[in-house]
Amino acid sequence: MKALEDKIRAEGKILPGPVLKVSSFLNHQMDADFIMELGKEIAERFRNDGVTKILTIESSGIAIAVAAGAALHVPVLFAKKHRTSNVSGVLYQTLVHSYTHGTDYTVVVEREYLKAEDRVLIVDDFLANGKAVEGLLDLIGQAGAQAVGAGIAIEKGFQEGGEKLRASGLRVESLAIVEQMDDSGIVFRS
Ligand code: 5GP
Repeated sequence: MKALEDKIRAEGKILPGPVLKVSSFLNHQMDADFIMELGKEIAERFRNDGVTKILTIESSGIAIAVAAGAALHVPVLFAKKHRTSNVSGVLYQTLVHSYTHGTDYTVVVEREYLKAEDRVLIVDDFLANGKAVEGLLDLIGQAGAQAVGAGIAIEKGFQEGGEKLRASGLRVESLAIVEQMDDSGIVFRS
């Protein structure tokens, strides 16, 4: 999506990690109009897949997920970070490794909101090593629901997540794929 690539080039900052900081429009301050466009584009790519629910992870995926949910007219569920891994039977839970914080955390969803008959579209802001998406797939699997794919705003194509998930058979649609980012600039996959 050219508009997203242009915005990343204009406003993105490269931090050690490597982490792409897009806090001016996506991860801290949010450009609401632009995020609605990102959500619409994700929705278009999965328009004919019978999606009944969108699943994302707290907190940075929520805005795009809501934008996609508004375009597809389906509910948006976000996996919540939970203080303890010892949770009751009303929840599905899984452990996710955080790329940006380097720690593991538990996320949960209430069982009543994820059902075996759901066709679930995963939405997130970034795809790096794929741990967040794998955690969401685990929750979908626990519910006996079906994952129809993942709609991602920014994939870091030089990390293993996209390749691994696609090799496993998951349809992954990323609006911008960064091939390389360093002092000399950002290169996108065409
Ligand atoms: P993964 O689980 O695929 O390794 O990483 C994806 C998650 O880590 C996303 O939910 C996102 O919040 C965060 N993340 C990974 N890489 C970046 C990055 O370069 N920039 C930002 N802002 N977040 C990232």
